[in-house]
Formats: sequence, structure tokens, C-alpha cells
Amino acid sequence: MGKKPPSVNNLALSLQNSGIPHELLVEQARSAIAAGDWENIEERVEHLQRSFIQPVVNATGVLLHTNLGRASWESPESNFSSNIEFDLASGNRGSRQTGIGNLFAQLCGAESAMVVNNCSSAVLLVLSALASGKGVAISRSELVEIGGSFRVPEILELSGANLVEVGTTNKTRLVDYQKAIDAHRDVAMSLKVHQSNYKIVGFTEEATVEELTSLDLPLVVDIGSGLLDSSCPWLSSGPPKWLAGEPAAKQTLLGGADLVTFSCDKLLGGPQAGIIAGKSDLIEKCLRHPFARVLRPGSHTLLSLQELAMRYLHRDGDGIPFWKMASLGLEELRIRAERMNAGEIVSVDSIPGGGTLPTVVIPSIGLKFSGDRSSELRRGFNGGLPIIARVSDGDTYLDFRTVDPAHDEMIANALGNLD
Ligand SMILES: *Cc1c(COP(=O)(O)O)cnc(C)c1O
Repeated sequence: MGKKPPSVNNLALSLQNSGIPHELLVEQARSAIAAGDWENIEERVEHLQRSFIQPVVNATGVLLHTNLGRASWESPESNFSSNIEFDLASGNRGSRQTGIGNLFAQLCGAESAMVVNNCSSAVLLVLSALASGKGVAISRSELVEIGGSFRVPEILELSGANLVEVGTTNKTRLVDYQKAIDAHRDVAMSLKVHQSNYKIVGFTEEATVEELTSLDLPLVVDIGSGLLDSSCPWLSSGPPKWLAGEPAAKQTLLGGADLVTFSCDKLLGGPQAGIIAGKSDLIEKCLRHPFARVLRPGSHTLLSLQELAMRYLHRDGDGIPFWKMASLGLEELRIRAERMNAGEIVSVDSIPGGGTLPTVVIPSIGLKFSGDRSSELRRGFNGGLPIIARVSDGDTYLDFRTVDPAHDEMIANALGNLD
């Protein structure tokens, strides 16, 4: 030290090749000089660079990684106007929900469907529209928290509905619902929530969707993960084994549910959004509630979802990155791993993620490197994307199932340059 600091402006100008806007560089330069740390300005700029949202390579083996944006899905062409609320036939105002709602109704075997920002929004809207000021019967085993701040009792409270707890933590039978409903005069609906990423095992019992239809109340099922149909007609090889037990929209509605709610970026494999599907009169109530406007998605999301719906309708599972990844064969993965010419080829377990049970795994092939190399890989090599690996027992693993093959060469370069 002891050297005279450069001017803020000159220091900022010296970094303009970073592509970062000048006024942000000025900010960095100013704080670096104030801290007497201007010689390390490049580190600060790199830190800033890394705070921007950018594509990364998901080599973690978690297919639906919440921190990496859940399902890998393309973004639609930007920079367009669309007929999102314009009826091309009449030239009059249209609804953003009609077209997309019809596609998802078709896919779920429902009368009607609508789209909101995520599954939490879907549950909040349904509860607000159907049960505000009234009771909602729900099993004590389903008062769950799912990832961060989605907690069933809190969403219920927020909607203005009253929680009517049913049964016990491990056992809830149909008669328990009947008892609870008889004891509270004003129960408007029953809600069944998929426990998603946790499970109670052992001495347990729950009332099925089919049983709950006998209650003579609207039955809403929050299935969460967005599997459309348990027979997976979009996969030529049929439903994979690891899916067993995952509730599907179509079968839940066939079983007698009046509405289902689910996320679009979990097993559905699309962008962040939420779907409500089922009986037309109930969807109509949801559409008319003021929250429908508060929670409505924009045209980019809807266009993207429409593209996803079309691929499902074409039964094109290979065109949906999540299902393509989930269906990759071990031989194919092994060949890709071998081509890297680095590390040790090992068997690993991919994890579906996104609310499926953590014990559910898909056998996969990866590369193992001794020691924790995750931070080097996160830097990317020579302008390549950051590579997110999995560190387990102090060693580093790259699982090729979750990696887009288009990135293999870039990864090979990065691996060839590991120290
Ligand atoms: C994941 C999940 C949610 C929350 O969905 P988001 O789309 O993340 O808002 C709600 N209910 C269930 C059962 C879930 O699995």
C-alpha cells in the first residue's frame, strides 16, 4: 500500500471490458477506494458478476433443484406482443385464461382449468374463493410445511378460512372427517394435501380421495408435484418405477376430487406457475375472486406453458427436458462420462427432487474427483458456464443425468483445466 489511489472514474473505466454498466462499476470503484482495497477491484467485480442471474450447468443429479430453478425449461422468444387478452376472431377483449385453461383441462381430464403464479398461489386462491370465513376440514397429518414458507395452516389462515383439524397425526379415517364436519356447522370444503417430501411410516392410515367424495362437500386435492397422468402416455417406455405412489392430476379427478392444484415446475417440467383444474363452477368462482388478478401470470409464462402443454398433447416426452433427463439410459450416460477423460467413472443416484420423497432415486452415472472441487467448478472455465457439482463425504461428483449434452464439451474443457 502507500500508493496513491486512482480516481474513481479511471478505476471504473479500467473495468469496462466486464460488460457491467458504468454506474455499477463506479459504485464498486468508490467502495474499493474507500476501503483502501482498489488493487483487488477485480475480485469485487467478479463477485458482482456472480450475483446476476445466469444459466448454470446442473451436475448435482437433482433433477428438480429448487436453488437452480427447479425444472430445466427453455424461455420463450422475448420481444413480442401477443393476443394474450385479445380475441383474434372477434377483435374484442379476450381472457388470458381461456386458451391455456382449455389445454390443461384436456390434459387433466377436467371440465376446466386456470393458471396462477405457483402452486402456493393456487391453494391460496382456492381457499379464498371457496372457503373464506368458513371451515376447511383437513387431516392433522397433512398440516405440512413444504419448502420455505409454504405452510398449510398459515396459507389457510391468510385466506380467511378456518382450520378444522381432522383425525390424528398418523391415522385419519373417513369417520373422523364426518365427526369434525358435524361438530362445526360451517365447513365449506375438505382439503387433502400431498405430504410431498416427507412420509409417516408404520402405524398409519388415511382416507382416500374416493372415500372423501362421500362427504357431500367440495373436495380439493393439492397434489403439489404436477404429474398429469400416472400412465405417462408421453413416455414410450411407460411410467418409470420411481414414480410409484406419486399422485396424478387425472386419476385424482377421476377418483372424485372436485379440484386439484399443482406446480408447473416440478414433475410437470415447465416454468414456474400453478394450475387449478376441475369442476367448471368452482374454477369460475376462483376466476371471479380478486386474488385471480393478483396472482395472474404474464404472457411469457403463459406462452411457455402453452408450448409445454402442446408437447404433452403430442406425447413428446423427449421434448420435455425433465422427462428426457429422467429417462436417459445408463449406457448413454456412461459413454458421455467416459468422453470427459477425467476423474473416475462411478455409479451415482440421481434424485427427482421437487417434492418427491428424498428416498426416491434414479440410478445414474457420474464422475468422481477426490476432494472438494465445487468452488473451482462454480467459476466455470474460460467464459464457460458455472458448473454446480455435488459434494459428498468430502469428494466431488458430477452426475451426467441432469446435464444437457450440449454442455458436455464445455464441461470437458473445465475438467481438463482442474488443478
Ligand atoms: C411444492 C408444493 C407446493 C408449493 O408449490 P409452489 O409451486 O412452490 O408454490 C404446495 N403444495 C404441495 C403439495 C407441494 O408439493
